[in-house]
Amino acid sequence: MLSVVTKNWAGNHEYAAARVQEPASVGELQDLVGSAERVRALGTRHSFTDVADTTGDLVSTAGLPVEIELDGDRQQVRVSGGVRYGDLAATLQERGWALATMASLPHISVAGAVATGTHGSGDRTGSLAAAVAGLDLVGADGALRSTRRGDDDFPGHVVSLGALGVATHVILDVEPTYDVRQDLYTDLPWDVAVAHFDELTSSAYSVSLFTDWSSGRVGQVWLKGRGDSAPPDLWGAPAATATLHMLSGADTAAVTRQGGVAGPWNRRLPHFRMEFTPSRGEELQSEYLVPRPQVGEAITRLRGLASLFEGLLQVTEVRTIAADDLWLSGAYGGDAVGLHFTWVRDVPGVYAVLPRIEEALLPLGARPHWGKCFLATAELLRPAYPRMGDFHDLAERLDPSHKFRNAFLERHLGLAL
Ligand SMILES: Cc1cc2nc3c(=O)[nH]c(=O)nc-3n(C[C@H](O)[C@H](O)[C@H](O)COP(=O)(O)OP(=O)(O)OC[C@H]3O[C@@H](n4cnc5c(N)ncnc54)[C@H](O)[C@@H]3O)c2cc1C
Repeated sequence: MLSVVTKNWAGNHEYAAARVQEPASVGELQDLVGSAERVRALGTRHSFTDVADTTGDLVSTAGLPVEIELDGDRQQVRVSGGVRYGDLAATLQERGWALATMASLPHISVAGAVATGTHGSGDRTGSLAAAVAGLDLVGADGALRSTRRGDDDFPGHVVSLGALGVATHVILDVEPTYDVRQDLYTDLPWDVAVAHFDELTSSAYSVSLFTDWSSGRVGQVWLKGRGDSAPPDLWGAPAATATLHMLSGADTAAVTRQGGVAGPWNRRLPHFRMEFTPSRGEELQSEYLVPRPQVGEAITRLRGLASLFEGLLQVTEVRTIAADDLWLSGAYGGDAVGLHFTWVRDVPGVYAVLPRIEEALLPLGARPHWGKCFLATAELLRPAYPRMGDFHDLAERLDPSHKFRNAFLERHLGLAL
């Protein structure tokens, strides 16, 4: 099937590709990729940049047969890459299984989310990509290849920004299902949050701080606790007495159940319900993952810059991500803290303040979220990615004709077109 591509989810990027191909079988996908001069995989279009784009054709795996195969003995599921996390999660839950983490929204495709290192929050939980145990990929020559955890170069394959091929299936770790309760607090002073950062982020299975940078307070603390764990005392911060949206004035019907009511993991770990548009739908996002030991300094620097960007900011979210070994991951080699910005949709305004934010954070070893707005070029980013040279070698070996390359990969990874 063919369709005309227009824009990404946020509407700030118009794809250069003329069309999206939607093959109905893996064989059709193989023919298409093998014969293309330039081609890139497209997921559910939730990235905020040209990361997925190409001057050739985009190809979506959403039209491939939906397969969700559980292997309870191995505690793994093999899922078609185009399936959305929310759909996978509902199936897993029905069958008594669960994922360790989810992003704030369930609407994103498995392969697309993994390819950019998408994450939720949790001191002891890796990103969505860290749960990947295997990938089946259509390579540049059209051949179908499998790579599994433990294979050489596997850690280079997972967060790969579509540069190595089109993932038809992803194998993910699963665990027996569990319940989660959400307890929200308000108005925790920033100084208390920073002074007790480790206690705060370890006070529940998954913790998110929603805040601005100028009021001196973390406006909302969202604790997602597993099982029957009672909510802790957060240094006297008031517990929320009503359902809250992280964006002031936005419709609370869109958020998952709060108020300490335990429920299935897939109806609590994402902030947003599958049936609603996440957030307000009119926004840009940026995020920088800083090495955990640098979080206090990073927060101090951003609070110092607050007046520069407070008119552009809808809300910031602070989350934690456990270390992994994936070469291009934001948590490669050490625990990380994600400092996320939901901006108003003012493209020139946002891109005008990003250099100041990057000047403050990149020297601390910050890595940008590959799916969100940032500016840093390959030269500036290289010190943060010790395995970038290995990734270049892998991309050259698997895609010698550069059919999966695009302007984004050239600009930010230094992979020549
Ligand atoms: C409202 C909103 C909330 C968000 N919340 C979070 C959050 O909580 N945490 C977080 O970390 N991020 C978050 N993001 C960012 C989002 O998770 C990433 O941008 C993610 O990559 C989007 O997945 P997608 O399926 O839309 O991929 P796309 O944006 O379509 O593509 C992203 C990349 O994946 C590649 N790709 C897609 N499919 C395949 C495939 N089959 N094989 C190989 N490569 C492929 C593309 O080539 C491209 O490089 C959010 C985004 C939005 C819009």
